[in-house]
Formats: sequence, C-alpha cells, structure tokens
Amino acid sequence: MQFIFLGTGCPVVSLERFGPAHLVQHQGRSLLVDCGSGVTQRLLAAGCPGRDLDALLLTHLHSDHITDLGDVIITRWVTTFDAQAAPLPIIGPPGTAEVVRATLAAFGFDIGYRIAHHDDLTEPPPLEVHEYTEGPVWDREPVRITAAPTDHRPVEPTLGFRVDCEGTAVVLAGDTVPCAGLDDLSAGADALVHTVIREDLVNQIPMQRFKDICDYHSSVQQAAATAARAGVGTLILTHYVPAIAPGQEEQWRQLAATEFDGRIELGDDLHRVQVG
Ligand SMILES: [Zn+2]
Ligand SMILES: [Zn+2]
Repeated sequence: MQFIFLGTGCPVVSLERFGPAHLVQHQGRSLLVDCGSGVTQRLLAAGCPGRDLDALLLTHLHSDHITDLGDVIITRWVTTFDAQAAPLPIIGPPGTAEVVRATLAAFGFDIGYRIAHHDDLTEPPPLEVHEYTEGPVWDREPVRITAAPTDHRPVEPTLGFRVDCEGTAVVLAGDTVPCAGLDDLSAGADALVHTVIREDLVNQIPMQRFKDICDYHSSVQQAAATAARAGVGTLILTHYVPAIAPGQEEQWRQLAATEFDGRIELGDDLHRVQVG
C-alpha cells in the first residue's frame, strides 16, 4: 500500500505546505482522505487527477479539511469524459451530506452556465454521500475501510479511518486527542497517520486562539504514545502546527522518538511512504 502526503499544512497559509489531504493507493484504487486547500493541484502532481478517485473520506468538517471540496467535485465533473461515470462516494461524519448539498448549491450558477454553454455537458454525476459514526464503511475487494470515533471536541462527531488491504493496514487518525476509539482502531496496524502540533512552539505564539489549539489536537509526543500503545510499525506525522521550519524535521522526529521506537516518517507535500 502506498501513502502520499498531498498537503501537510494547517489553516495557516503556506506556499510549501498545502491544506490537509492525503492519498492512499493500492492496486489501482485511490482513496483521498480530506480535501484541504490546493488538493486538486497536489492530486495532479501525484499522478492521480480527481477524476481517478475511487472515494473521498472526510475525517471531520473543519474548514481546513474540506475547503476544496467544491474544487474536487466541479473539476471532476468538467474533466470526466464519460457522462455515465461512476458516482464519487463521499464518506464522512453526520453533517457531510449537508456540506455536500450546500457546496453544490454554492456552485449552482456555475453549473448552470456550463450546462447552458456546452452541449456535451450534462448535470454533474451523482454523488454518493455516506454518513457514519463508526463501523465498516467500505468493502470493495480488495479494500476494506472501518471508521471509529475520535475525540476532537467541541468538533463532533469526528472519525478515524482504517484501510485494510491484503494483510496491510493503515490508520488515518485525523485531528484528535488520544482516545480509546483511535487506540482500538489502530491496534496492530502497519502504519498510523497522525496530525500533530508542537505544544512548545504553539504556546510561544502571542494569540490565545493558537494556544487553544492544544486543547483538541495531539502533541507529537501524544501521537507517538498512541502509536506505541497500538503496536504499529510506522508512525507517519502530518498537519504540522506550526509548519516545520527548514532544517527542523529531525527535531520533530526526536520528539516522537521519546515515545515510539518504530519507524517515524515526516515529509513535505508529495512525499511517498510505502507501507507493508
Ligand atoms: Zn480539526
Ligand atoms: Zn485540522
């Protein structure tokens, strides 16, 4: 299974690190997890334009994780040659259907302009929206996906996803503090992908709203401790808050290594990690 960092950033705009988005690929299947700012450009750079996606998974409905949902939907529509193309399944927590409906409504004028102007363009292909709070969410050979509740309160419900495929498992935690749901989901997986913050650095920022971020995200050490409890082989850290400064990656890795003695991966956008 291949994991690709599409966007390793956070809500703070960065020219190097785009918004949270990650791609899991196996045997021609492509699963997009979250769709932060710049995701369509990163998908193209990764060799998987949006029309090739098999499903979109949303861990939660915070803006940095869904801000380019409209771009994914509209770009897929206007660049798909087959009008009978299969619908794009969108799997997320309760509220996802409302977000998708509102996004399509926001682009209602655009959709009308394009249909009126192009004879070979009809209504956007249907979207399949599936809302879950836990349990199996996808079973199409050879990929199975399971969701579990995470703890990102006051944002709720939020989901972690486990992708199982031919004996290899990758868990995507999303934004969460350590919690039983994520521990159970991650147990025995090959890799855990976890969003992280550096509490020591965030607490130096003289704005209360940055300090508040610590309340509902895991620190590097907490994410590493979760990986250790779960017994995963590889910990993949992403969604760096604040963005990793040039030359500082090793410092982040060392912090994780205080709690976890397996393989630790950090990366820039488009870095790839082979799992299993
Ligand atoms: Zn969040
Ligand atoms: Zn986030």
